[in-house]
Amino acid sequence: MKSFRKWVPVIALGFAGACFADGASIAGFPPPLQPADLVLLDATIVTLDPLQPQAQAVAIREGRIAALGSDEAIRHYVGAKTQVVDLHGAFVTPGFIEGHGHLMDTGEALMQVDVGKAANWDEIVAIVKAAVAKAKPGEWIIGQGWQQAKWNKTPQPNVDGLPLPASLDAISPNNPVLLNHASGHGIYANAQALKLAGIGDNTPDPAGGTIVRDAQGHAMGMLRDSAADPVFAAYNRYLQKLPASEQEARRERALQLAMQNEVSKGITSFVDQGESFETIDWMKRQFAKGQPLRLFVYIDEKSVDKLDKHLKEYRIDGYADHHLSVLGLGEDVSDGALGTHSAWFLEPYNDAPGITGKNVTAMSDLAQMARIAARDGFQMAIHAIGDRANRELLDLYQNVFTQYPAATAKRWRIEHAQHLNPADVPRFAGLGVIASMQSIHTCSDAPMVVPHLGEQRAQEGAYMWKTLIDSGAIVLDGTDTPVEDTNPIPNFYCGVTRAYAHGKKTFYPAQAKTRMQELQSYTWNNAYAILAEDRLGSLTPGKLADLDVFSGNLLTLPAEDILRTRVLYTIVGGKIAYRRDGAEHWRKGQLSEPMPEFDHAE
Ligand SMILES: [Zn+2]
Repeated sequence: MKSFRKWVPVIALGFAGACFADGASIAGFPPPLQPADLVLLDATIVTLDPLQPQAQAVAIREGRIAALGSDEAIRHYVGAKTQVVDLHGAFVTPGFIEGHGHLMDTGEALMQVDVGKAANWDEIVAIVKAAVAKAKPGEWIIGQGWQQAKWNKTPQPNVDGLPLPASLDAISPNNPVLLNHASGHGIYANAQALKLAGIGDNTPDPAGGTIVRDAQGHAMGMLRDSAADPVFAAYNRYLQKLPASEQEARRERALQLAMQNEVSKGITSFVDQGESFETIDWMKRQFAKGQPLRLFVYIDEKSVDKLDKHLKEYRIDGYADHHLSVLGLGEDVSDGALGTHSAWFLEPYNDAPGITGKNVTAMSDLAQMARIAARDGFQMAIHAIGDRANRELLDLYQNVFTQYPAATAKRWRIEHAQHLNPADVPRFAGLGVIASMQSIHTCSDAPMVVPHLGEQRAQEGAYMWKTLIDSGAIVLDGTDTPVEDTNPIPNFYCGVTRAYAHGKKTFYPAQAKTRMQELQSYTWNNAYAILAEDRLGSLTPGKLADLDVFSGNLLTLPAEDILRTRVLYTIVGGKIAYRRDGAEHWRKGQLSEPMPEFDHAE
């Protein structure tokens, strides 16, 4: 009763403040605020919370947002032990969520030789040669990120622009070499790797894959989609023969490298499209120790039987203080990629008559998986690039929703949703299917889309962000790391400009997003898609304190200055997970050089 009396004036204050104008106050009012752990002052904060869209300062306590307001108001939260950071006008957003990536592959890629920036095949051969010189006998050389479309000259000799294997075999006769294509849908292997994989000139093409051959029918080393599986299997056999302690150390290093890479680029939560049950068990042990990044994992298990038996056991929500959750099944692939002519289309490619691409995981298998996911209350997140693959998946989801209406509440997704037949565009909003797209793929792919698909399909159906948003669909953003660099800044720039070739060209710019739509894709929409908008996606009192501090205002900067914006701080759960060198000396208006690594194909 006593406390009730004490609180009455709080309610009355707004109406009858004059009662206290004579200086009378009630003992203990206002009650002292609990001091914050961290206070950020003098910022331009965009919250994405419609109740309080902007603020100047924020107070954080016990890993959550305590309050947002003016500097003057938020100073009330400063106590003896509060860490106070003056941001000098920097731009603050909810923490960016990587909407579609591959965490362990990103870590692996960071341990591999980088052939993505090589200007041509000769440079790649030189990079591999240097790696061979440092390798133990028989050790595999793994490279990442090559893309012939970006080379400044065609290799000589070549078959359809691809090199012949002799150059690689000459510099690495005993070390197997596996070079991953940037698309993630093909590899180049040397003779030693092909031998260990059991691939010869007479090996037939597997279902869902192609062994590229020269005019005489010799396997060249280029393996598309499932044709690469035996090489990955041979590499895995090599890894499994390493001493257990070495294997564990490699794995932990990959995880740490990947997480540090993410937080250094402003990613506070990461949606991981596909790890095995076994990896998730291992991750649980790793996350119990405390990790800087929040991880939302989808299960990638090929065995329908295993999924049927064990999926239920993997209901993980907010483990280790909201750092590890498991959402559903992903990223099984219904088709391949555009660059390798393996994305599955309704009509043939313009530059490959008669070829419509391929269905990779049989639609009947995907249907079985979808029913298991629906039965056990999980999401589906399936990869579809071509318009045929997207239509087949929408049909499949629609069927399953009829049988299991509750599945619609789980917000099923299509990963990439890259090329759509115009008739299928409104079906995303209609079915409540989320379009998990990656802006940066558009700017990377732009030079090859029209040659592959022709003007009409490119204009009516390629990377239809804006039309999807206008139709009411939820559109996400992410980078598919390690396919693209996880850095959200070039992705944000592409999302709002669709500019490529150093900004000199644009790809159907009518489909560009507004700045706010792009910010929302990266934050609130990604949180919604992982069923976490109750704790992430906006800066709202009570939500988890995940924020990014940027050197430029992404909503108002001239477009060309977006690429000069840098992450100054990444804050996860109220802890500074990353601080850029010299961040404390940054002052409003200071911009960096443009991203040196952002160099799209001409
Ligand atoms: Zn992916």
